[in-house]
Amino acid sequence: MKGLNLWPNPNSCILRRSSSSKLNAVNRVSRPPSPVVRFHCSLSQRSLRCAVLGAGFAGLSVVWHLLKNDRYIETRKVLQSDRYLILQHSPKELDLRIDIYDEVGIGGGASGISGGLLHPYSPKVNLLWEGAQCWKDSIKLLKVAEEASVSRDCKIGQSDENVKAFAYQKRFNYILGILRLATNLKNMTKLNANVKTSLPSCRVDTLSKEAAQELVPGICVPFDTAFYMPEALNIQSQNYLQALFWSCENLVTESSTFDSGKKLLQLHRRPVNRLSEFDGEYDAVIICLGAKVNMLPEFSGRLPLRTCRGVIAHLELPDDISEGYPERGPSILSDAWIAVKSPRELHVGSTWEWKSSNSSPSVSPDEASSALTELLPKASVIYPRIMNWDFTGARAGLRAMPPLTSLGSLPLLGCINDIMEGNQTCKYWLFGGLGARGLLYHGWLGNLMAHAVLSSDEGLIPLELTSWKNTIQFSDFNKQTEFH
Ligand SMILES: Cc1cc2nc3c(=O)[nH]c(=O)nc-3n(C[C@H](O)[C@H](O)[C@H](O)COP(=O)(O)OP(=O)(O)OC[C@H]3O[C@@H](n4cnc5c(N)ncnc54)[C@H](O)[C@@H]3O)c2cc1C
Repeated sequence: MKGLNLWPNPNSCILRRSSSSKLNAVNRVSRPPSPVVRFHCSLSQRSLRCAVLGAGFAGLSVVWHLLKNDRYIETRKVLQSDRYLILQHSPKELDLRIDIYDEVGIGGGASGISGGLLHPYSPKVNLLWEGAQCWKDSIKLLKVAEEASVSRDCKIGQSDENVKAFAYQKRFNYILGILRLATNLKNMTKLNANVKTSLPSCRVDTLSKEAAQELVPGICVPFDTAFYMPEALNIQSQNYLQALFWSCENLVTESSTFDSGKKLLQLHRRPVNRLSEFDGEYDAVIICLGAKVNMLPEFSGRLPLRTCRGVIAHLELPDDISEGYPERGPSILSDAWIAVKSPRELHVGSTWEWKSSNSSPSVSPDEASSALTELLPKASVIYPRIMNWDFTGARAGLRAMPPLTSLGSLPLLGCINDIMEGNQTCKYWLFGGLGARGLLYHGWLGNLMAHAVLSSDEGLIPLELTSWKNTIQFSDFNKQTEFH
């Protein structure tokens, strides 16, 4: 197995480790020693074989960042005549083979059906942990994907309607922002206090009832005040993921022209039944299986994740009603959310069915009917005209919800060889627990994960994201032999 030691640009903002005293305390809790994973570094070995399990927001973001590694300089310490020499070369020379495994294909899990709402705030408009960085990196990936979809349109001389829809919205800023409305006084007070600390790059403006109704005629505005995030986005998730994959393919093509190292990328549509399938084949296995990760025999429900199924109802305006949703109107967040897909197509979400293990995107008539019974009254409090829209179908997904910490619900990242039984010949990395905020987290965390994998150094991931490993019972994981 080959190992690499790629260190980040010293100016990179993701070098720092947490200074949170609470987390440092957690990290002082003693852990059993990690099984030794040996990495043989030699200048003649500059190849890395990675398996990325899952082609959702997490998986594709890691793949893109693994391929786009030219920010980093490989640094090696070589002992020569009693002195350490620091040797550096650009990882553009790296031979990198990436195999993506997904049983459904791109966007086969929660990512493909998600509401597509993107902003860096909690429901009370509190900036989420590292919200500024997450926001910036997600927007960067959206741009990258948009460029790939536009260049593909140009290349094939005809445009795929779906992708055009995604690109069009971004390029012409079609979906203008998100309106947040409070339906009770307690929330209203909190929102009012929190808007003062909003990010300049995704600001939250306070609007009067009249101004809100100008954006969305017919909207009800409790307490005569609405909160407007003009830069927040509503994207077509499935189209975005397809375009992000094209962008990864473009990086591979470009590297064959500009880099001396070979890059290979392949998507395999097949199920992953157990992690041991990959041992020996790869140097690094990055597990991005969303809510189904705990179903692998190596984990069998022992990762600190809870599952929660959500149904989204799709509505269309009947032909005999001419006045649709405003052409450039914002999406709405309230007790239910309304994501605008076009002036005549809205998605309303979402339900929260905790402990469900049903990851199927298909929704039975009974499930759809109870979702509508729950969602429509909530949505109609804010947008009564929704009662005129026709139900056309529903889709569902399973969220992987991480534990709540003092910093919020943070995704679970890290190298997991130390919590797995046996001697592995490759490094296993977990990138999971994106909860209900996968779009926001996937950009920055995909970058961090790629960085850590290329450097074979978990220390590049902030402690806040790896400290979950201190809270799990190692004895539980050692029971895994029962499942082999
Ligand atoms: C109803 C709903 C609405 C949402 N709305 C939003 C929103 O508006 N904004 C937002 O930011 N987030 C939203 N989310 C959350 C977001 O969808 C998730 O955080 C995100 O999709 C998680 O991404 P992931 O890549 O970790 O997992 P997934 O997208 O689930 O990807 C996992 C992939 O792994 C594959 N896979 C799983 N098991 C196996 C196996 N054994 N073998 C092979 N392949 C396998 C799956 O096919 C899938 O493609 C929503 C979630 C739901 C359920």
